[in-house]
Amino acid sequence: MKYLYPPEYETFRCLANACPDSCCTDWEIVVDAESEAKYRQFPGILGERLQKSMITDADGDTILQGETRRCPFWNTNQLCDIQSEYGAEALCETCRKFPRLTQDYGDFVELDLSVACPEAAKLLLTKTPEQLVLLESTVSAVTVLPAYDTDVMHQLIQDRDRMFTVLKDTDKPAVVQLAQCLRLMMQKEHASSVVTKTFTHESCLSFLQSCSILSNRWASLVKQALHAYTKFFRIDPQLDHEIRAFAFDFLYRHYLRTISDDMALLHVQTAAFSVLTVIVLCSRLHVTTQKKRLEIWQRFVKEMEYDCDNMEELEFLLCTEAEYSGAALAEALEQLGRVDTP
Ligand code: SF4
Repeated sequence: MKYLYPPEYETFRCLANACPDSCCTDWEIVVDAESEAKYRQFPGILGERLQKSMITDADGDTILQGETRRCPFWNTNQLCDIQSEYGAEALCETCRKFPRLTQDYGDFVELDLSVACPEAAKLLLTKTPEQLVLLESTVSAVTVLPAYDTDVMHQLIQDRDRMFTVLKDTDKPAVVQLAQCLRLMMQKEHASSVVTKTFTHESCLSFLQSCSILSNRWASLVKQALHAYTKFFRIDPQLDHEIRAFAFDFLYRHYLRTISDDMALLHVQTAAFSVLTVIVLCSRLHVTTQKKRLEIWQRFVKEMEYDCDNMEELEFLLCTEAEYSGAALAEALEQLGRVDTP
């Protein structure tokens, strides 16, 4: 079995109580069946607390329910009571795996880290274009017959490699190269290149405001951006690298899903929309430091990619609204590239 992964997958270490936005807050922790059975047998005070806090949510999942928006086992020292008492192996699958992601295609597996984790965001998005590489390893000799059309998958891998090459080419700004990826896909899917409505900051921000929002911090950033004005915004070389790294990681993680959803262009549009949204927020909030920008990338991914309703709504807009068409997004990116060349 072949495994593909970015080098950071192996070097990642959780920041634990030094994390600026822990995964133990704002999210529901879904407990897998095996851990639930184990937790039901835990003795003592921790066992009692666990048994009391496991409830079934509206989707039928067992979750850990606290009185606040934080995991009830995330203590005042910002450490996990379950891990402190029983070790990391006692954690449920959700906590044990995050921010590691696995995409299993049957005969090969792609691994990644989620930008929704601040430490993963820092590792993945602060790379130079030369560092945008994937490692490969073969773990076992087991041969699994793929359940997909191998010719289509081969073509998708080639398309993705082509987009990777475009993104790593620093002859042009990252925004222009991402627009180029969009245009490649538009051509392939015979999508119109005519812009009938332009992408605007206002519509992007009102979409963010209409989404379901997890954290107070994100709500406040979106609100501030809505009431701010756009100052001249320079895409500096660091942000240029972040855009390349984000788009590279996004396409790595999402593009091959086309094998089952047949939405090649939509995946590239989503990457483009995400980049434009982060630029809109940074320009409205007058963000100039990489630390603050990384927070925006990270929180954007945490708010959007982990909420099915938000993602469905975004995909609907990308498929139906002229201002979010491939042509409109490509034009908005190219415009940014004309304004500023790093
Ligand atoms: S978000 Fe990442 S760094 Fe922070 S606590 Fe979770 S896994 Fe650790």
